[in-house]
Amino acid sequence: MEFILASSNAHKVEELNKLFADSKIKVVSPENKVEVIEDGLTFEENALKKAKGYFDKYGKPTLADDSGLVVPSMPDILGVRSARFAPQFEDYKDKNNFLISEMSKLSGEDRAAYFVCNFCFYISPSEVYFFEGRVHGEIGDKIQGGDGFGYDPIFLPTGKGGKSMAEVMDWKMANSHRAKAAAAANRFFEGHLS
Ligand code: IMP
Repeated sequence: MEFILASSNAHKVEELNKLFADSKIKVVSPENKVEVIEDGLTFEENALKKAKGYFDKYGKPTLADDSGLVVPSMPDILGVRSARFAPQFEDYKDKNNFLISEMSKLSGEDRAAYFVCNFCFYISPSEVYFFEGRVHGEIGDKIQGGDGFGYDPIFLPTGKGGKSMAEVMDWKMANSHRAKAAAAANRFFEGHLS
């Protein structure tokens, strides 16, 4: 089944088609961007807003993903607002250095963090499915690695010996929040889609 991606980011279509390669799910880009205000309080709420916004315009099954970085000791920043963190900086290197400095006095459990990805598959108003994936780790005290994007260079996944997400890209492809949400969707849709 074909889903219009509720995003105009071509890079995302490519990445999602890799994650759904062995499934019945095919993701295509929308003809035009639809403006959706992402003011939900949860990842699920924002994913639904985006998927519904594109469904209402195109009348075809849509897929939206909403993701972000959660630092439980800093509940007022990041989370569903991750894409809008530190708007005074455009470059993620600067945003990451700013977060490192904001967290400089925190240690141990207070540095715990996780990435979340929530997928909303909007087949019709009466058939909507959500799948969520998380990956746990902690925030490092310096930028590490040049691969990946966003907060990858300061996120140290649990069990990876202090390496950052930006240094373990093969592992990320199979174990990230997005990969886990995609695996859950693949398992569910295996017997459900034609
Ligand atoms: P979205 O595109 O609205 O879902 O924004 C997600 C925010 O979380 C952006 O700031 C991304 O840079 C960040 N983010 C989401 N997934 C990842 C990831 O896999 N690595 C690094 N940053 C991520």
